[in-house]
Amino acid sequence: MIHFQSLTRAELAALLLPLGRKKLRRDLSPEEAELKLAKQARYRAQQVFHWVYQRQVLDWGQMTDLSKDLRSWLQENVEIYQPIELQSQQATDGTMKFLWDLQDHKTVESVIIPAALQEKEPEAAGEASEPAKQRLTLCISSQVGCAMKCKFCLTGIQGLERHLQVHEIVGQVLELRRRAPITNIVFMGMGEPLHNFENVVKACEILLDQDGLNFSKRKVTVSTSGLVPAIEELGKRIDVSLAVSLNATTDEQRSEIMPVNKKWNIKALLDACRKYPLGSHRRITFEYVLLKDFNDSLEDAARLVRLVQGIPSKINLIPFNEHPGSTLKRPADDTVLNFQRYLLDRDVTALIRISRGQDILAACGQLRSVFKTG
Ligand code: SF4
Repeated sequence: MIHFQSLTRAELAALLLPLGRKKLRRDLSPEEAELKLAKQARYRAQQVFHWVYQRQVLDWGQMTDLSKDLRSWLQENVEIYQPIELQSQQATDGTMKFLWDLQDHKTVESVIIPAALQEKEPEAAGEASEPAKQRLTLCISSQVGCAMKCKFCLTGIQGLERHLQVHEIVGQVLELRRRAPITNIVFMGMGEPLHNFENVVKACEILLDQDGLNFSKRKVTVSTSGLVPAIEELGKRIDVSLAVSLNATTDEQRSEIMPVNKKWNIKALLDACRKYPLGSHRRITFEYVLLKDFNDSLEDAARLVRLVQGIPSKINLIPFNEHPGSTLKRPADDTVLNFQRYLLDRDVTALIRISRGQDILAACGQLRSVFKTG
């Protein structure tokens, strides 16, 4: 069985090509016949994409405007993947967290976050932005675990088990879009998306396809810890927004909490960001987890201003979400506000990200970790 969500529309059309052959008129030349077949197959693939991704019908039998032949071919050959929900939790602030049981019984999680950012800084002039109240961001996973070993992250501690397949990535979105009017997708769940490059790029193609999930390129964000060659490749392959988990302002500091920095240092990372193709009015998001007495001083803020100079960007300041077993601490609220004020006073867009869903352990990897350890 082929997983439907692993197919782009063009791939589905290629599979459907032979189905039209027996109904072709005999008087067509071979070239005309091939053209007609290809056109029909593209049309059918578009119909099927509409049914699944836009009308969210998951039963081939209910797709009434498809021919009987096509429906029975789909029934026999293609399966619409639905991850099994193992557990879900809703926090008092509206954040919802889902733990999925995959076919090999590995688990990953997705989080729905309403109005993810505080409205402390208006969007740049001309930047399309829906009011915060209407924003419903879905944070999805791209791997089971993660190999990057960032010190502040529970998923990093768990290590990498495997990459997610395309259908497992798109499946999270389809399943949750059926339950909630998701407006934005961020690859910030479990895993380093650019470590699972081909599958993530293909999943993005399906998310952006106008006949598929039809998200705008502004509303799909791939977040990376800093795999420099993959950032360059991403910019060539697909037009999505980029977020970079920066978290420090010197190489010494960054290497201490993010081992990836030993391979690609801050300069290499920011050079790749400068070259990343951004359309007009788009910016790179730098994530900066604020850690008490580690990267939260005004000297850090001053270095940060210098580092991002010349890069169309905004900075998300994320006060560390303390978790059991971590020696890292969250800074005091005043320290966070002073850090933000320093950046704003120097015309650097900086937003404080409200810690969402703390009562349900909504930091990346936490629900899974709690579930695994019982
Ligand atoms: S922060 Fe992201 S890249 Fe780093 S270990 Fe966690 S999941 Fe992996």
